[in-house]
Amino acid sequence: MAVDPLIELRDVNKYYGELHVLQDINLTVGKGEVVVVIGPSGSGKSTLCRAINRLETIESGTIELDGQPLPEEGKALAKLRAEVGMVFQSFNLFAHKTVLQNVSLAQVKVRKRKREDADKRSLELLDRVGLASQAPKFPAQLSGGQQQRVAIARALAMEPKALLFDEPTSALDPEMINEVLEVMRQLAHDGMTMVVVTHEMGFARSAANRVVFMADGRIIEDRTPEEFFTNPRTDRAKDFLSKIL
Ligand code: ADP
Ligand code: MG
Repeated sequence: MAVDPLIELRDVNKYYGELHVLQDINLTVGKGEVVVVIGPSGSGKSTLCRAINRLETIESGTIELDGQPLPEEGKALAKLRAEVGMVFQSFNLFAHKTVLQNVSLAQVKVRKRKREDADKRSLELLDRVGLASQAPKFPAQLSGGQQQRVAIARALAMEPKALLFDEPTSALDPEMINEVLEVMRQLAHDGMTMVVVTHEMGFARSAANRVVFMADGRIIEDRTPEEFFTNPRTDRAKDFLSKIL
């Protein structure tokens, strides 16, 4: 199936001093595709996400979003960050703002929406993640799973072309993981383009179009979940799966 590319990395290399953290990365994420990135700790998964959102610079290669190179700075960069939303392990909500304000804030500041329009949209999005009734509360009054769903609603409020998730459920108590994965499954079903770093293999199997396995800064497998989980090609992947499954 030929898909229209949305995110394209070509021969991307990045160093932290001596450490070659991304090595010749080639990755295309098509529109509406869900790509799950897995691999051992320190393999470069977070750096990859951060490079796509230009929270990190790269030393060589190119990264394009919708056929355009990532902007370097200024307004275009702020626009990119809105177009490629990111959801982190730590929810990064503003503690002194209500749930509603958290979702509305960037709509007003970045998207220049009127406050009342932003609030209306925020309530719709909070409803979509099952949290409309929590709108007046402060983040600390919510569970971790609820806070992460607010973070997802906040990212969606920017009408992103793609969403990046960096271990969105790793900081959650086990009983809250599913409510977040369920929201992500729904987004995938609705056609959102997603890059998801996760150790949740059930999600990878059920929601991913492709699984990308990274080790030591390289992509060493990039295949369908079916192929990857039933017949991993490399010893690194076999070893990783034997530890995690
Ligand atoms: P992963 O998300 O797969 O665990 P990371 O992308 O966070 O891996 O990190 C890859 C490697 O880069 C690790 O060895 C990590 O210690 C190193 N690293 C990450 N961020 C920095 C940084 N800001 N400065 C120096 N080294 C870093
Ligand atoms: Mg990481």
